[in-house]
Amino acid sequence: MNARTDLDLSHLWMPFTANKQFKAQPRMLTAAKGMYYTSGDGRQVMDGTAGLWCVNAGHGRPEIAEAIAAQAQSLDYAPGFQLAHPGAFEAATAVAAFMPEGLDRIFFTNSGSESVDTALKIALAYHRARGDGQRTRLIGRERGYHGVGFGGISVGGIVANRKTFSGALLPAVDHLPHTHNLEQNAFSRGQPAWGEHLADELERLVTLHDASTIAAVIVEPMAGSTGVLIPPKGYLQRLREITAKHGILLIFDEVITAFGRLGRNTASEYFGVTPDLITMAKGISNAAVPAGAVAVKREVHDAIVNGVAGGIEFFHGYTYSAHPLATAAIVATLNIYQRDQVFANADALAKTFEDAAHALKDAPHVADIRNLGLVAGIELRSREGAIGARAAEVFQKCFDHGLMVRYTGDTIAVSPPLIINAEEIGELFARIRKVLTSVA
Ligand code: PLP
Repeated sequence: MNARTDLDLSHLWMPFTANKQFKAQPRMLTAAKGMYYTSGDGRQVMDGTAGLWCVNAGHGRPEIAEAIAAQAQSLDYAPGFQLAHPGAFEAATAVAAFMPEGLDRIFFTNSGSESVDTALKIALAYHRARGDGQRTRLIGRERGYHGVGFGGISVGGIVANRKTFSGALLPAVDHLPHTHNLEQNAFSRGQPAWGEHLADELERLVTLHDASTIAAVIVEPMAGSTGVLIPPKGYLQRLREITAKHGILLIFDEVITAFGRLGRNTASEYFGVTPDLITMAKGISNAAVPAGAVAVKREVHDAIVNGVAGGIEFFHGYTYSAHPLATAAIVATLNIYQRDQVFANADALAKTFEDAAHALKDAPHVADIRNLGLVAGIELRSREGAIGARAAEVFQKCFDHGLMVRYTGDTIAVSPPLIINAEEIGELFARIRKVLTSVA
């Protein structure tokens, strides 16, 4: 997998990776164009996951590379505290145009994790600015993934990401139950019919803690990282009703879903549910430069910014908030999305994608198939006493057979660049079927 023998692999501590295993058998990527990566041993590997759900417009877009290069030569960096550069405003205006109406105040970050922690802090600052400073409790959901900051892992619901740090998690946090239920919903196409009532658990938490102590609820409208969990019909609408009733802010973590994954600008638009804040990253810059943002409802922004007479209104920000290279990449990326109607392609192919995914129902080991937009989760039956082992083998074999997929537990996830065509969708699932047939 690694044609270069001159590399010392010992110094790099790799994130979310089995380091020892990887270094014994590295999987290198050396180039990328369109739908394909080039592997270290020179093979073409179809990108079944848009990198990490982020290269929505496909790899190697020259317009983005040129915009970044031109920016690096004209203004490489400008501080964002008390100073600014025009690209920051241009990018904020461009991002706001992709957001649901009213969520048009944009705070820039560099990643999904930073966007989540920023959104949680905005929620606390909002209530405090309105004289409601006792609203400090944050509510997440089991099996939620909100990045790796202390805020994100506190509201997140992934045991492995939390247990090592359990003594240092945020104190006032509670969790809704997750919505995954194979007995009720296995092989649902799109949104499952069962599970809207799970949103009513929020009423139980409100009764337990009292609404006057709760600042915000944060959920992924479609949970990606924990194995593609599609919200039941009516569930998000119900969450919106309950949060609005009790003055609790609703945050949608759209780090994966914003910018076309479901064939719309946002999942909020797709589901017809408008939260108070949207976190985003990944597709915002087509992943060409690290970038993220939080879109904030005008009232929320105004309460904080108009809440003080003068001076800094919100003590938060990053050295690289609205970094010039990031804002150049964002503007170029959003131009491509618009000009090439990239999300319309995703929407037009969603049914083909759904049919191809569900055609795997009779393939070996398949326990469930879930899908929405250009996302599919294929849950495999676990091996006795070895959760995740079968999916890990499928992942490796897919890579060996020229296809990049992801896996969480025993769920294989696919989320290709939104430029995929019908033939490539067929090829993608055919390769998965072949591999499923070859593993024990
Ligand atoms: N939130 C969600 C929903 C995500 O899927 C991710 C990453 O996959 C994150 C937050 C964290 O993003 P990052 O890895 O850019 O910090």
